[in-house]
Amino acid sequence: MASHGADTAFLTFSNVKKTYDQQTLVVKDFSLEVARGEFITLLGPSGSGKTTCLMMLAGFEDVTSGEILINGRNITSIPPYRRNIGMVFQQYALFPHMTLRENLAYPLKLRKRPAAEIRARVDEYLALVELQGFAGRYPAQLSGGQRQRVALARALIFAPDIVLMDEPLGALDKKLREQMQFEIKRLHAQLEFTVIYVTHDQTEALTMSDRIAVFNEGVVQQCAPPNVLYERPANLFVADFIGESNKLGGVIEAVEADSVSVRLDDGTRVRTLKANRTTPGAATTVSVRPEKLTFTDRLGAVGNRIQARFVDRHYVGEFIRYHFTTAGGTPLVVKSLNDGSAPHLRAREEVTLAWLPEDSQALDRPAVATTP
Ligand code: ADP
Ligand code: MG
Repeated sequence: MASHGADTAFLTFSNVKKTYDQQTLVVKDFSLEVARGEFITLLGPSGSGKTTCLMMLAGFEDVTSGEILINGRNITSIPPYRRNIGMVFQQYALFPHMTLRENLAYPLKLRKRPAAEIRARVDEYLALVELQGFAGRYPAQLSGGQRQRVALARALIFAPDIVLMDEPLGALDKKLREQMQFEIKRLHAQLEFTVIYVTHDQTEALTMSDRIAVFNEGVVQQCAPPNVLYERPANLFVADFIGESNKLGGVIEAVEADSVSVRLDDGTRVRTLKANRTTPGAATTVSVRPEKLTFTDRLGAVGNRIQARFVDRHYVGEFIRYHFTTAGGTPLVVKSLNDGSAPHLRAREEVTLAWLPEDSQALDRPAVATTP
């Protein structure tokens, strides 16, 4: 985790907007402050504006309005090659006609470093990504994972202030992807560069990031550390996009300091944390994670309760997934650890499910950009 000592942010996006066609904004009003050394991930569905944000930071796309600052200095008119930013993309973008040594030397030659320094640095970075002895090979003679390690080394070798990674592991299979996630984190801890990472894979985002900015349709829905995003999603989009959520519709009856009472559509009354603006009488959705929803005998007398009818049960190995429906027809999922205590239920059996008020939130619809 980065130190967050400095008062001024190292990197700032300030009310950044982008349109390609002078009509639709694909990035609507992006503001973000990043500390030096932080690992920030932009997470969101395809087309939500993540790559566009990276391209503006790298200088390959203009900013339509707003500012991007590094160390308090507006960089929007500085050309890409003077921004000292390293980049890794999904497609490796190594030079196929150059050996690994030549590929790694390239960014240093561009910066007119002396030959002796270049040789030493290339050796150092080949070792760093565990490819000593491969210096004379061409990219085509490497596996996908090895190529991506070269791309990583090439992005880091000139000691950039910021490294942009756009779905860098998207082309790799699951096992290799997990190894590379670990590699990137190791290098990040060792070299302390600042990362802006783009992915649409929530698990990857949760495992790697100090903070995650969740994008939808060009609008950041929430920017927070992984545990906060998962446990306190700011709205229904985030609750759905990160992990899985049970959603129960209802109406707010009473508002307390940080919790609300909700009458669910089936008449059940529950208490839950409040996440968004809340007024009595307003429609809301109560969101509960499947691993927090449980059988009443596990919670005892505390918490919220709801009647549900058993539908089916799926064995997933480490846990068991149960499907239920409420009297109102709302589907519910319970994830129960496969620790020997998961109950066997009869077809269509009526059960009482329970959860703690602090494990649920009353949520609004996703945030949309306000139109003037
Ligand atoms: P993401 O990386 O989240 O998938 P992008 O930033 O690539 O999203 O794209 C956001 C939106 O901008 C999409 O609707 C996409 O079609 C559009 N877009 C991206 N690049 C260009 C471009 N060079 N010209 C025109 N439209 C673009
Ligand atoms: Mg993209």
